[in-house]
Amino acid sequence: MEQTRKSDKNTDNGNIFYAVAMRGLVAFPKMVMHFDVARQKSVDSIEMALKEGGKLFLVTQHETYVENPKATDVYKVGVVAEIKQVLKLPDNIMKVLVEGVYKASLIRLIDDGETLKAEVKRMPTYSRAKVDEVETEALMRSVKDVFERYSQYFPKMPKELLTSVMTQDDPYKLFEAVTFNCNLNYRDKQTLLEETNILNKLSVLFACLSSEVEILELENLINEQTKNSIDKGQKEYYLREQMRIIQEQLGEDDGDEVFEYINDIYSLKLDKKNTEKLLKEADKLGKLPPSSQEAFVIKNYLDTVLDLPWNKYTKAKISMDKAEDILEKDHYGLKKVKERILEFLAVHMLNPEIKGQIICLAGPPGIGKTSIAKSIAKAMGRKYARVSLGGVRDEADIRGHRKTYVGAMPGRIITALQQAGSANPLILFDEIDKLCSDIKGDPSSAMLEVLDSEQNNAFRDHFIEVPFDLSKCVFITTANNVSAIPAPLLDRMELIELPSYTAEEKFHIAKEHLVPKQLKEHGLKGTQLKIEDAAIHDIIQYYTKEAGVRTLERSIASLCRKAAKKIASGDAKRVTVKAKELQDWLGVKKYLPDLLSQKDQVGVVNGLAWTSVGGVLMPLEVIVLKGTGKIEVTGSLGDVMKESAKIAVSYVRSVADKYGIDPDFYKNNDIHIHAPEGAVPKDGPSAGVTMTTALVSALSGMPVRADVAMTGEITLHGRVLPIGGLREKTMAAYKAEIGTVIIPVANKPDLEEVDDVVKNAIEFVYADDLAKVLDTALIKQPVKRRRGRPAKNASAAVAN
Ligand code: ADP
Repeated sequence: MEQTRKSDKNTDNGNIFYAVAMRGLVAFPKMVMHFDVARQKSVDSIEMALKEGGKLFLVTQHETYVENPKATDVYKVGVVAEIKQVLKLPDNIMKVLVEGVYKASLIRLIDDGETLKAEVKRMPTYSRAKVDEVETEALMRSVKDVFERYSQYFPKMPKELLTSVMTQDDPYKLFEAVTFNCNLNYRDKQTLLEETNILNKLSVLFACLSSEVEILELENLINEQTKNSIDKGQKEYYLREQMRIIQEQLGEDDGDEVFEYINDIYSLKLDKKNTEKLLKEADKLGKLPPSSQEAFVIKNYLDTVLDLPWNKYTKAKISMDKAEDILEKDHYGLKKVKERILEFLAVHMLNPEIKGQIICLAGPPGIGKTSIAKSIAKAMGRKYARVSLGGVRDEADIRGHRKTYVGAMPGRIITALQQAGSANPLILFDEIDKLCSDIKGDPSSAMLEVLDSEQNNAFRDHFIEVPFDLSKCVFITTANNVSAIPAPLLDRMELIELPSYTAEEKFHIAKEHLVPKQLKEHGLKGTQLKIEDAAIHDIIQYYTKEAGVRTLERSIASLCRKAAKKIASGDAKRVTVKAKELQDWLGVKKYLPDLLSQKDQVGVVNGLAWTSVGGVLMPLEVIVLKGTGKIEVTGSLGDVMKESAKIAVSYVRSVADKYGIDPDFYKNNDIHIHAPEGAVPKDGPSAGVTMTTALVSALSGMPVRADVAMTGEITLHGRVLPIGGLREKTMAAYKAEIGTVIIPVANKPDLEEVDDVVKNAIEFVYADDLAKVLDTALIKQPVKRRRGRPAKNASAAVAN
């Protein structure tokens, strides 16, 4: 850019000056003004004028659009002005500052093709004719009045100007001050320039200004009305958009980022309060240095909030046939579970808006809870997300930390929504029974809010702060142990219990689901790896001990890995896993059949226990030694059983006579009760009947039948109380080939859940008191008995 100062030479080149034809602008003597020049001819004329003394003739075009004006295209009166300053801008644009010197009339316009010149004749600015003072005063007042009104529309007009106009008593100076500072139409200004009589000048000025004020008033009114009709949000959007464009023009990149946030916030279409809250954050961001820690925190916050699936819903119609297909295809067996889930889906199909239906899938690990939840999501056309609650002890895990914390994050619910990418996913809360509570707050109360359909339409995460509507989500929970679920949570859920699998079911699951799945995952074709049926049976029997099929699946995966290695390394083209070679594949057998009392023995009873991996057979041993009345309990039973042991001893004392037991046994003997170490049972008290039977046997010398197993809690008076986990316990008895199982009479209705194979193979004895248990299990006259499951009639005889 080049700056040129006017030269001091002030040579008036006769009456001929370089000229500029002005578009929409009128100069006045004494008026300082600046304008831009873009036409080449004008630029050149100004440059020439600068060289020749710095004077210029400014004359206004009749019509602004004329590109190459001739004499007829410009007014006859213009102003000779002095160039004060010239500033060259890029693109050959010139900014010129001039001051009007005198008025002149145009005689001739000389266009040489490159520059424009004008021959002019100087004119007096004002006629010196005498004017009526009163009239002048009146006109001056009118002009001042209208100028005052005019100035109201220009709040930025300097106060001094207003004061100087209002206090002006020289009509000429008043005229100049008002004319030079008002934005009048150029044609009006030309009239004002041409007029020489001050009275006329003032009255034209008054007329022009009055009409200008009227226009302004009208414009204002229209604006006012339109402003009301534009809704506030639109207006704000409009203004922000304008700001964004301004910022863009100024090349301010950081602003761009903020505006992107603002745009994104608007497009979330949240309610007014929350939109404002987010806008405030964006605003804050705009004011912070971009690399500051706080800016980083806000950006992270906004990114997280904007990334949430606000208003993003998946839509799918539930078709019962399709749902049934999906459930059937993904899972073997589980007939009752599938039926209940189809009922649940049917309700959702008929009433998609239904709220507060929460299923809790309960059962041991590896039983298919997670995979059923996934199938439900598929059948409902929902996205799926899993939230693991195992070991969650801090409320902040669920609800997140406030964003001001270092490393703050949203809680698990919001994270699950992020993962699902939809506002109505199916969320699986895994292991809801493993929620812990401690001093850091109770996560179960946060969970209550999440699951409560009355409250969850505005779930508030501490990090996100803006409430999120969870009411459209479908929740499913899982639990291993229903009794550990906090009661208020359990209240809200519909329990569906998944029973543990029989070996037969496991075989089918392995053959139809796990093997094909693992082959696919390992990139193997069905022809490349074959696993003999007998091998699968052996894996179930000797390599796994579980209610579900997780270890079974892992063992199959291990076979696939090894086979893949063999095939990939070229050792073999196809591989068959045979039962007899299983040890080579999986190592030595890990589990041998349950420890079972092999023959009728004194003081040894087959108890049945329920553990986290399903039911187990748990033999209990009692020996009676000479001593001083001490009771010792060892093995996997722990403290819980000490109570049961005391109850058993007291009961046996009360019936000592009936079984020929020394009534003073509790004084003269030490009693040692032992449960071989193994799986740790979850239900201590249900070994009450087992312990009493073993005690009576040990004290009376009557052997206990080896083919009988039992479970039941006892009271001091010898009543047998019901227990839990009947299905799993009877399954364990079935696997151990037990012929007779004694169960509390109150558990009789639960037999409905017991598998048919189990029911067909086992004879059940329903005991309401211990006498019945002892009658069934003890052999009063020792007889030789063949080990194994007795013939049906034989055991029925025993049961009666
Ligand atoms: P959980 O959630 O109860 O611990 P998972 O759903 O993780 O159990 O199940 C473990 C594995 O066993 C999964 O691969 C699952 O597909 C499979 N599985 C469990 N039950 C069945 C079944 N009835 N039919 C087919 N596959 C099953």
